[in-house]
Amino acid sequence: MFRKLPVDLTPTEESPGLRVRGGTKYTRSQGDYVCGGCGAEDHANGDNDVKALVDDYSTNHGPAHKRSGR
Ligand SMILES: [Zn+2]
Repeated sequence: MFRKLPVDLTPTEESPGLRVRGGTKYTRSQGDYVCGGCGAEDHANGDNDVKALVDDYSTNHGPAHKRSGR
């Protein structure tokens, strides 16, 4: 069973989550998240900012809401 992946992988309120796109020589890496737990969203560009965004999401949002019981 394979579900068709959406063409646009940017997370939305309807399909929350974390998306990271690696940068190339010509583009900066990009990250976006929409939290399914609290509805927060954030966007980042550049390796350092994207890393911080991923840390923020995994520490404070997404699965972290289930861990903390909220
Ligand atoms: Zn959240």
